[in-house]
Amino acid sequence: MTTRTAAAAARATVYGYPRQGRNRELKKAIEGYWKGRVSADSLRTTAAGLRAGNWRQLADAGLHEVPTGDFSYYDHVLDTTVMVGAIPARHRAAVAADALDGYFAMARGTQDVAPLEMTKWFDTNYHYLVPELGPDTVFAADSTKQVGEFTEALALGHTPRPVLVGPITYLLLAKPAPGVPAGFDPLTLLDRLLPVYAEVLADLRAAGAEWVQLDEPALVQDRTPAELNAAERAYRDLGALTDRPKLLIASYFDRLGAALPMLAKAPVDGLALDFTESAAANLDDLAAAGGLPGKRLVAGVVNGRNIWANDLEQSLARLGTLLALADRVDVAASCSLLHVPLDAAAEHGIQPQIRRWLAFAVQKTAEVATLAKGLTHGTGTITAELAANRADLASRAASPITRDPAVRARAAAVTAADTRRAQPYAERSAAQRAHLDLPLLPVTTIGSFPQTTELRTARADLRAGRIDATAYEDRITAEIREVISFQEKAGLDVLVHGEPERNDMVQYFAEQLTGYLATQHGWVQSYGTRYVRPPILAGDLSRREPMTVRWTRYAQSLTDRPVKGMLTGPVTMLAWSFVRDDQPLADTARQVALALRDEVNDLERAGTSVIQVDEPALRETLPLRAAERAAYLAWATEAFRLTTGGVRPDTQIHTHMCYAEFGDIVQAIDDLDADVISLEAARSHMQVARELAAHGYPREAGPGVYDIHSPRVPSTEEAAALLRTGLEAIPPERLWVNPDCGLKTRGWPETRASLENLVAAARTVREEL
Ligand code: GLN
Ligand code: ZN
Repeated sequence: MTTRTAAAAARATVYGYPRQGRNRELKKAIEGYWKGRVSADSLRTTAAGLRAGNWRQLADAGLHEVPTGDFSYYDHVLDTTVMVGAIPARHRAAVAADALDGYFAMARGTQDVAPLEMTKWFDTNYHYLVPELGPDTVFAADSTKQVGEFTEALALGHTPRPVLVGPITYLLLAKPAPGVPAGFDPLTLLDRLLPVYAEVLADLRAAGAEWVQLDEPALVQDRTPAELNAAERAYRDLGALTDRPKLLIASYFDRLGAALPMLAKAPVDGLALDFTESAAANLDDLAAAGGLPGKRLVAGVVNGRNIWANDLEQSLARLGTLLALADRVDVAASCSLLHVPLDAAAEHGIQPQIRRWLAFAVQKTAEVATLAKGLTHGTGTITAELAANRADLASRAASPITRDPAVRARAAAVTAADTRRAQPYAERSAAQRAHLDLPLLPVTTIGSFPQTTELRTARADLRAGRIDATAYEDRITAEIREVISFQEKAGLDVLVHGEPERNDMVQYFAEQLTGYLATQHGWVQSYGTRYVRPPILAGDLSRREPMTVRWTRYAQSLTDRPVKGMLTGPVTMLAWSFVRDDQPLADTARQVALALRDEVNDLERAGTSVIQVDEPALRETLPLRAAERAAYLAWATEAFRLTTGGVRPDTQIHTHMCYAEFGDIVQAIDDLDADVISLEAARSHMQVARELAAHGYPREAGPGVYDIHSPRVPSTEEAAALLRTGLEAIPPERLWVNPDCGLKTRGWPETRASLENLVAAARTVREEL
């Protein structure tokens, strides 16, 4: 293979790096600071040490430019809020009294003041703090953090490139501040915001920055002409500044679409684009726009958000094509490496051969550096790397882990009938009514009961060998007895076993399915100091043996009331894992669905009349571009129906969703063909009940009447009032009474009191019918 040599040497870079450190030192330091055990100075020292370590690691790996400003004590969008001075009125006193404490108050709230709202960063599992803006917002530049980190890296001998959230994305991610009418459009503040960015850019220039990166991922979503015009104006104005560094506008997570030709013509100095599979259209679109003559193109060819080793030859070919389109082509990961764990080499629990299939942040950095070297000096200079990469990819493709003929044959044999229940909803509903004999407004929960310290300790003890499997099971069965006995006494109608045996709703199943790899250190920031360790769905997937049946059967043996079986649905299993990239997601979903279908059928056979398949991630996995949504929803809902399609008509299938607005997916919720759905609704005053009604949703529903995100106990009257609101949209024969979500993060005292109040509320409202 031959590669044209670039006119200018290709440089290697990334847009951001995991913040936490090898042993999650940042988490420990911040939580220590919150508890008063770590001083502010010591926290700052730890943070500076982590930044210096990251930059060193990047430079040693061969990166030419290191990102700065991507580090954060909590969240980079909150850092941007500080940078532009958009501190909400309720936090100003705290910020003025102490910048660091005020910062954490905005992130987490205090006894008296609510935090900023938190929501998902595009379609990742990272959460950012939502800026609150209004017509009275006054911006003021504060470049302390950006300039400080830039200067730090410069002093350490690096070539730093500050990375900022761009002004358009910042405004598009914002919401109206409390008290501001919902119709307020934050984009109207653009003219006020741009001078602040100009000031920060000037400060960075004065500190010595040659390039500054402005991230505009919001432009990969469908945008109105007005929004695109705003972006065009923003970059025309920023580009026209005289006292500024060179500007690199970055986008990622998808193709830029209509924004691409506009940004290509903007008076800025370079574009950073995603060129991974899912954004491949960027290549043709860039060519159609006439390329970037005279400008810098940063090509994100290494997937920054999944964990598979790159196909280096394929990337080199892509980079070769791009050389014709820009003055200078540099190599990068497609997005910040914030979304992947730090180092695959630390995974000693994974066989070395399989470990070589994986690329976490450290490995991706090496890939980027190798590609830049090959692009600049020719592939002859990276023959060893290419040979090793080819061998690793071949080993992965040929492995019995990735190809299980039995699993493939079964998935290929799925028929439309498998994805449909034998009877239509109306007939099933009558059969279930007769079979279950529930009162009107039946009371149930979402599945988990408090995960107490004793339960977590028992699991840790089992792992460490301090207790044996029998002792662990005794702990679990004791907990199930307590959970069942409480629910019977409190008067719930459909009981649960409480999920005490589950560490996490995805990991628990992943550990019992073939095709999944578990990591020991694969931590990824979810928000603030919370990190998750997503399992890796690496291969063809099947169930070794029943996964939940014994616990549900045991719980059912303790009571005459129905005990609901609890499973995590196929879409959520994918959404909260790293998924394989060697076949369409739809195919992987079908394999998961078949494994879960066996579990559903086994639960039914064991005497379970109500089975819940949770899909909290259905909404969040929705593609960023509307054009791709129908295809996604088609396979996602089919996977759910394949999971649940094999049961008798009188077995009642429930599903559950949370963390979202549901307005735009009501049709998909209907397409699941579940008999009952429970949804988060308490904080939005049953909004979802009205949305379901407006759609003509024909099934039973339980909009949550208890906000489980807070230790607050809802009163009987409050829950009853929410039920009455629910009844305005959903008739009594179809309304359920339940909390918003599982109770695992709650303590027992508030759980007891709240559920007792829910039962009392249901009784009160039943009387009124
Ligand atoms: N059944 C799960 C639980 O109760 C559902 C959790 C979720 O929706 N996130 O914990
Ligand atoms: Zn939930």
